[in-house]
Amino acid sequence: MSRQGQDYPTESESRALFVELGRRLYQRGFVAANDGNISVRLSPDWILATPTGVSKGFMSVDQMVLVNLVNGEWKGILKPSTEIRMHRAIYLARHDVRAVVHAHPPIATAFSVAGIPLDQSILAEVIVSIGTIPIAEYHTPSTQEFADHVAYCIQKYEAILLANHGAVTVGKDLEQAFFRMETLEHYAHISWIVRQLGSENVLSFNQVRELMALRSMYGLQPPAPDCLTCPNYQKPTEERQNEETVSASQESSSLNKQTIETIVRAVLRQLETS
Ligand SMILES: [Zn+2]
Repeated sequence: MSRQGQDYPTESESRALFVELGRRLYQRGFVAANDGNISVRLSPDWILATPTGVSKGFMSVDQMVLVNLVNGEWKGILKPSTEIRMHRAIYLARHDVRAVVHAHPPIATAFSVAGIPLDQSILAEVIVSIGTIPIAEYHTPSTQEFADHVAYCIQKYEAILLANHGAVTVGKDLEQAFFRMETLEHYAHISWIVRQLGSENVLSFNQVRELMALRSMYGLQPPAPDCLTCPNYQKPTEERQNEETVSASQESSSLNKQTIETIVRAVLRQLETS
């Protein structure tokens, strides 16, 4: 059931889902102590958000806070999270976003600390569901500067790492935003192991393009953010070798052309002087 047609979830079902998803975030180790926050859009101007100072693993339905996106007014028995500025900025920047999850999953956060984005086309599921995951530059958490920068970065992506901090995912509903956080951490975990193994087979441009076509089957807009245009997109060895061969043969044919022209000019000069 939705408050306005099928577009928005009801407040009561959202409060219950916050408790469940908060518990999962905590149990999976994606947040420690009172870290992390969740929000969902209940109408064009109002969101429901997690409160400050509460462990996400032990929330009750009455602790959530209603927050006005435009003026920041809030209603609840507890204050909203200190990261509420970031949540508001994201919703104001992206009208299609209906839910936001912010957490500190340890392996993905380690990538953010190391300055390594999760932007290699190595996992089919990630390419289909999220696309590339860049790192937003560091700003002091909870500040307006931080909120504005995250909102700017999230305009093109469904998930981003926050330098020396954690990660943010967005979605069309709470489940999608939460699953994207799970996928992000799973991707980071596999990437970490792959780096230890010392070899990484990156999917080809055409393989990625075929995966893009699958997105519409899951109700997602193709293509995924920046998978094919990412500046860090690393083409597989075979594709690079083919390009190098083509490039070498092009150089060779242009060399042949120059040689023929030189010979022709030399012959013409000889004819003129003879
Ligand atoms: Zn945080």
